[in-house]
Amino acid sequence: MPDQTLADIIRRQGRERPDAIAFITPERTWTFGEIDAESSRVAAGLAALGLGPGDRVACLTKHMAECGVLLLGAAKLGAVCMPVNWRLAPPEIEYIVDHGQAKFMMADEAFLQLLARTNLPSLRETVVTEPGRSRLLPSFGEWRAGFPASDPGHRAAPMDTALQLYSSGTTGLPKGVEIANRGYFEVLDIGPKMVGLDPSSSVMLNVLPTFHIAGMGNLMMPLKAGCPSVFHPEFDPAKVIAAIGEHRVTHSFLVPAMIQFVLQSPAAAAGDFSSLQVISYGGSPISDTVLTEAKRVLGCGLLQAYGMTEAPFMTHLLPQDHDPDGPKSHLLRSAGTPVPGVEIRIVDGEGRDVPAGGVGEVWARTRQNMKGYWRNPKATEETFPCGREDGVGWMRTGDAGYLREGYLFIHDRIKDLVISGGENVYPAEVENVLARHPAVAECAVIGVPDERWGEAVKACVVLRPGQQATAGEIIEFMRANIAHYKCPKSVDFFDVLPRNPSGKLLKRVLREPYWSGRERAVS
Ligand code: ATP
Ligand code: MG
Repeated sequence: MPDQTLADIIRRQGRERPDAIAFITPERTWTFGEIDAESSRVAAGLAALGLGPGDRVACLTKHMAECGVLLLGAAKLGAVCMPVNWRLAPPEIEYIVDHGQAKFMMADEAFLQLLARTNLPSLRETVVTEPGRSRLLPSFGEWRAGFPASDPGHRAAPMDTALQLYSSGTTGLPKGVEIANRGYFEVLDIGPKMVGLDPSSSVMLNVLPTFHIAGMGNLMMPLKAGCPSVFHPEFDPAKVIAAIGEHRVTHSFLVPAMIQFVLQSPAAAAGDFSSLQVISYGGSPISDTVLTEAKRVLGCGLLQAYGMTEAPFMTHLLPQDHDPDGPKSHLLRSAGTPVPGVEIRIVDGEGRDVPAGGVGEVWARTRQNMKGYWRNPKATEETFPCGREDGVGWMRTGDAGYLREGYLFIHDRIKDLVISGGENVYPAEVENVLARHPAVAECAVIGVPDERWGEAVKACVVLRPGQQATAGEIIEFMRANIAHYKCPKSVDFFDVLPRNPSGKLLKRVLREPYWSGRERAVS
């Protein structure tokens, strides 16, 4: 019978290839057999603490291999792993662990000080990932060694939650996204085929944190395919370059900024990239200069993925679409075409399909769709406005976009649109023009209250060091380059723009002082 749950994957690999290398970390290697046995100990240990199906276990760790063992151990018991973003501040960590009602926590020694500043009453046990360092808490290794490697044999149903990840919190508080076994498998079935993972020859490099869906997808794809993963707990361009050469890495997933850092690294000139086959990226399109440089230096295929925690792999731009001189070069700015099994609609504010080519909210119907938001039925219901009688449901993505030649272009977040005098202004379009002004280093366009127009377009600008420009000069520049109704009516200057720990711009924070408690029409 094919694998249906995360636990099935490691049970099968433990049987079929016990001695093959699965994880390579800077400290050690793990075989599939070891991961199978150690995850069984974890399951037995969690059961001994009184945990069972549906209980949440949290981790706050840069150690991806240990995170994998915890995830799989929890899955063997029907419990749910909930990785927490270690870049967050103590109150944010407290919010997530408390919201998840986690009963077990695995944390790096380095984060214990952070944890000491939180109040987490639901936790029954906390262990540290590094062996023998903490005198106060048992290490993960010591703890699980106290239990037998006997798999409790829980068989999860396809719609049972396999993983709980918190969204990035770009548009509000992070939401606990429950990813069902069925949804995760849809991604794990499609992903390895798309990038060509082969158990006999592929090697994955994973430098993405496991608290984001891309890192989690990357963790499980090679496990499912049966090939080794090389982990580096934090992104370091020189180490990435060295690891590619040393381990003959064939695949990786990096965000566009990471690709750029690798290319700019002094180590790139001497790097051996000859083993690389496909580098996937997501989060945003790639710039033309990075693309050209990546093709020249890395010499491998590039694949863009558009997705979200709630549906990880909705569209893709395939390697053959990435030729800047090819027939599809005008589609390079897009997020690509739907992956098999995904249907996309572009919908207006009343839930009607917009005419072909028009901009609206992207809705997706796919078996990847999340089960729902943990302990937030209202948000789940709002996200599936047509219900889920078909067992899947049309899911609102919150992204504005349009389709051209079957390719999806992502414009902006719906919440970030500016509606001025009844006209929709797409901030990304205005920002692209504003960024061309020679004095502008960074910019963000937001809607601020306006008596006459409802909202007015405001530009928030960080100037380049040593450069000067007045608000009047910037507005004049914009008037010459963009339609009048899209042109900023005012400009404010900033030293830095607010970003979340993933580097995403927080427009809600930027908007706040201008609205001071007043409701926006777009929410
Ligand atoms: P929150 O939902 O808490 O506000 P978030 O939406 O930033 O946070 P994620 O699920 O990590 O949390 O990010 C998904 C979002 O990232 C998508 O909705 C989309 O806006 C953006 N995104 C992802 N991939 C791409 C891509 N290839 N091109 C453009 N945008 C992308
Ligand atoms: Mg989101």
